[in-house]
Amino acid sequence: MQTIRFADAGQIRHAYIVSSPSQEEGFQVALRIAQAAVCQGAPPLPCGRCNACRKAGDGKHPDVSIIERLTNDAGKKKREIVVDQVREAAADAVVLPNEASRKVYLFKEAEWMNPEAQNAALKFLEEPPNGAVIVLCVSNPGRLLPTVRSRCVEFNSSAEGETEKSTMAVLGEEYLKKVAERDRLSLWLFCEENTGISIQELTEFCLSVEQRVTEALCFRADAMGMDKRQLNRIIELMEKCIEYLKVNVNVKQVFGLLETSSIVSKKQ
Ligand SMILES: [Zn+2]
Repeated sequence: MQTIRFADAGQIRHAYIVSSPSQEEGFQVALRIAQAAVCQGAPPLPCGRCNACRKAGDGKHPDVSIIERLTNDAGKKKREIVVDQVREAAADAVVLPNEASRKVYLFKEAEWMNPEAQNAALKFLEEPPNGAVIVLCVSNPGRLLPTVRSRCVEFNSSAEGETEKSTMAVLGEEYLKKVAERDRLSLWLFCEENTGISIQELTEFCLSVEQRVTEALCFRADAMGMDKRQLNRIIELMEKCIEYLKVNVNVKQVFGLLETSSIVSKKQ
């Protein structure tokens, strides 16, 4: 299993999807994110040794809540995670943490959130109070609403490259390669060639690049031949593009930004 590590607390985002065919493996990755969020040791996070890491790892940290399907009177798991469970978590997040600097909410089998629960989760995911971190564990992210997915950074905890990539994810890889090689001409051609895609597709492209880079930062910092600073710059750039696309800045203009801002001179 891959080991998640964050270079510092600033790299921990507020909403994650951990996707894994194995429930247990996915949950272990989610616990690592929780540990990193509450860790009191020295970076990289989680340190794995401090008291907070130990408690979070055992699922016993007071600021780490685990939300899963409730059981019925016969002790059988209910079919869905219901809206009240999401509302309860959101209400709890308003209360300041007990020990850590933030609270964490781990949703087990999050694909069992019914549509009402997922809709309730939307605002929570967008602006979790007090810097809370939300992690949705799923075996099939396709069962989450696209609006939910678009608010989260996705981790695929199964071995890399095994899952079939979407067209936009493939384009994303191509883009990153050109950026890593600092090949301005080929990047320019790439941008010109793809101006025909839709706003939605370009958003998906930016999200997949952001996700890929986030994974690289957490799992293997030297990936793709770029250093941490370059990778962080790309994340910022992708977020800017996604914001622009939300307010209907057109595809051509966003590609223009990618053309000019993806590769900066080494001195900057
Ligand atoms: Zn720690």
